[in-house]
Amino acid sequence: MDINIEFLFNLPKVKVLDCSISDKEAHIYCESTHPYGLCPVCQKPTSEAMMYQERTIRDMTLLGRKVYLHLKTRQFHCTDCNRYCYKSFDFVNPVKQ
Ligand SMILES: [Zn+2]
Repeated sequence: MDINIEFLFNLPKVKVLDCSISDKEAHIYCESTHPYGLCPVCQKPTSEAMMYQERTIRDMTLLGRKVYLHLKTRQFHCTDCNRYCYKSFDFVNPVKQ
């Protein structure tokens, strides 16, 4: 199924990998296409990806279905500070769900 999620949810830099839709729920699996993250210490962009983390975001109800976004984000590593960071999204609540 071809869904333009960027248009639908106004999510920049997100690529849809898969989705499954049932009578009551829609699950959309997507991944961040951000090429880099910002180090929280030195604010330098770092593109050294170390691992992936999946977050599930219950975003809205669409046409009577609960919509869950499963977002895969990359964890980046700053070699200068030896710190890890995730690319954060404006639409993701900072409280871990
Ligand atoms: Zn740094």
